[in-house]
This record gives sequence, C-alpha cells and structure tokens, in this order.
Amino acid sequence: MNQLELEKIKNEALEDHIPIIMDDTLEVVGKVLEQIKPNQILEIGTAVGYSAICFSSYLVDNGKIDTIERDALRVAQAKENIRKVGVEDKIHIYEGDAVEILPTLQEKYDVVFIDAAKGKYPFFLKEALRMTKKGGVIIADNILYKGYVLGDYHKHKQRTAVRNLRQYLAQVSQDSNLETEILEVGDGLAISKVLN
Ligand code: SAH
Ligand code: MG
Repeated sequence: MNQLELEKIKNEALEDHIPIIMDDTLEVVGKVLEQIKPNQILEIGTAVGYSAICFSSYLVDNGKIDTIERDALRVAQAKENIRKVGVEDKIHIYEGDAVEILPTLQEKYDVVFIDAAKGKYPFFLKEALRMTKKGGVIIADNILYKGYVLGDYHKHKQRTAVRNLRQYLAQVSQDSNLETEILEVGDGLAISKVLN
C-alpha cells in the first residue's frame, strides 16, 4: 500500500473535518484485526474510505471489505482515495442508507465495524449479530460520545443519540453470547466478541 498517499488522505480528511478514526482507536482496532486475520469485514460508515483503507492491510489474501456510505460526495471521494492507494480490489462500497442496505446483505463477516449514525446503533447491532461469524467481533466507534453517554449532561439535540448509544451498551452487556470490552480510547470503543 502507498503509505505516503494514505498520509495525504488522512490529512485532507482532517482538514475537511471528516470524523475519521482516531490514531489511538486505530491502534486498538489494528491489534484486534491482527489476532482475527479477517477474511471479510463489514463497515457501516465509509466517509472518505480512510478506515477501510487502513483495515484492508489486515485482511488475509483475497479478503474483502464491504462498506456502506449514504453521502454520494463522500462515496465519490472514497472511491478516488481507494484507487489512489491501490486497494480497489479489496474494498466494495455500497452506496445508500445502511438502514436499507443491511437487511439485504446475506454474507457472514469476521468483523463488523459500526461507525455511522449514533441514533441507529441498536439497529446496526441487530444486523451485526445476524451477520457476524462465531469467534468474530463487533466493534462500535464513538460509543461514549464525548463523555455524554456515561455522564448526566448533554444538549437536547444529542438526546436521541445518547439514548441509543446507552441502549447499545446495555444490549451488548446483557447478551450472554457476547464478551464485551468498553474502552475509553478515542471517542469510546466497544469491542464485542461473538462466542457462539
Ligand atoms: N469510518 C470512517 C468515518 C465514518 S464517519 C473512518 O474512520 O474513516 C460516519 C459516516 O457515516 C459519514 O460519512 C456519514 O455520511 C455516514 N453515515 C451516517 N449514517 C449513515 C447511514 N444510516 N447509512 C450510511 N451511511 C451513514
Ligand atoms: Mg468514528
């Protein structure tokens, strides 16, 4: 992979205020991917393709990433970025709303990375549980949302997101088929291993 090009993509995304995966979060996810050696990854929330490009280097030979993005401009940027780095054979983008696309997917994944609309996390979890292989992991980024999820203060407009992120955490904690770690790295990361 072209590291120089990847660095450029990262810096452009940061300049454009696109909420790409934070360095410390990427380090943790990278360690998980190293262990799993994924063949298939599903990502919800492509943005400009930065995280998908980073994850692609952990795939086994002929492994694939499916990633979903609803913003047409970002899809175009992601395609361009993926081409620049030379990983277009490893990443497939579904353009559209994940709420509509996920129920149409019939594949099984080793890793599902949830990184899109916070108000939809419980729905994304339901779909991820259906599609994650035994021994695979479901990873949710931004799960602590600037500390609002565990604190008692947030603004009115953040209410739905906070409620749904709390619901996500409650669900993964209560599910006896999952082994979940909640980390304060970055904006908060939940890593749930699927046991059976
Ligand atoms: N994973 C990316 C960052 C994703 S930012 C990275 O780390 O590089 C979140 C993205 O999710 C945004 O681009 C937004 O347009 C997209 N998104 C939010 N809700 C969505 C939905 N319901 N369906 C598809 N994409 C969605
Ligand atoms: Mg994120």
